[in-house]
Amino acid sequence: MSNTPTLMLFFISIFLLGGWLIERRNRRLYSKRIAQKMGNQIEQIILEISQELEPLYDDLKIRPKDFDLLHLGQHVPIGELKAKEYRLWNSHLALLKKTILRQHQLHQYLRQMARRKEEELRAFNYTVSHDLKTPLNNALYFMDLSLLRMSDHPDPELVSYLDQTKGLLNEIRDMIDSIAAYAYADNVAMSIQTVDLLTLLQKITRQIKQSNYHYAKCEVHIEQTIPPVAADPLLIRQALTNILSNAFKFSKYQAAPLIRILAKEKEQNLELCIQDNGAGIPPEGIHKIFELFQSAHSRSAFEGSGAGLAIVKRILERHKGQIWVESGGLDRGSSFYIRIPLASNPDSA
Ligand code: ADP
Repeated sequence: MSNTPTLMLFFISIFLLGGWLIERRNRRLYSKRIAQKMGNQIEQIILEISQELEPLYDDLKIRPKDFDLLHLGQHVPIGELKAKEYRLWNSHLALLKKTILRQHQLHQYLRQMARRKEEELRAFNYTVSHDLKTPLNNALYFMDLSLLRMSDHPDPELVSYLDQTKGLLNEIRDMIDSIAAYAYADNVAMSIQTVDLLTLLQKITRQIKQSNYHYAKCEVHIEQTIPPVAADPLLIRQALTNILSNAFKFSKYQAAPLIRILAKEKEQNLELCIQDNGAGIPPEGIHKIFELFQSAHSRSAFEGSGAGLAIVKRILERHKGQIWVESGGLDRGSSFYIRIPLASNPDSA
């Protein structure tokens, strides 16, 4: 009978140990169930975000590969999640979702603004081409008619007046076209893409050469390795055409006109130098040539509207680029430099 308390103690211990083991098993099962539930919920949130974002991938310019939330989900150690981690994940994902949706709203807003600007620009161009240019064209037409009527009995003085008036009206028409071109470069929505400048420069120089027989004798050397840039293809084409047209125009009186196009990379940008051996720029005129309707030369020697470089400057500003010029003075040629972000530059416009 002396063993009775020992036996009782033994059974109680077994009983307590058994209870503790069962409790521990239950608790483990319970926390596994909770973890599973949490994991499922997170997966659900990730799925929801992915589904909500999918139609926006194009808009936000992200590829599913860059932003694969489901893929991210596969890396969550779901079975091991604790309540605190779960809460952290949950709030992190909610914040992410909110940020991305905000960004999307901002995109939509900017797009709306761009559309509105585009409409204003169309209205402006319509006004310019119809309301201003139509009466101008009619005046030119009536002047031609008057000159034709007079051809049998010409009055030399009157013919000269009419010719001068025609010249002035043509100048006004060119100015109107220049203002419209400037407004277009200033406002049109840009589509930044990778642009192969070597091919573009070859095309432009070929076209300019063919446009005027004076230019055929001009020699053009283009550097053969030019890295691609991030630019709007149409606007950058316009900018390079304006600079190169000037290089041809202001070299046309040289015996052996030569244009050199050099390129070098500098701090994620491309620096292009367009050099000519033409008329050069007098120091007193160099500061104004990038302003609208300004020239450093007499109009009788070199025709032009004076808007080309102002347009180039605006285009480059919109690309986060730059333009500047160096010249040794009259008849010593000019070097126009432009700086534009390389296609590989992450900060390109
Ligand atoms: P435009 O050539 O129609 O006059 P631009 O805006 O293209 O107008 O150029 C402004 C002025 O800059 C020109 O009138 C000229 O005085 C000067 N310029 C531009 N390019 C050159 C060049 N390659 N050589 C000499 N002067 C130039």
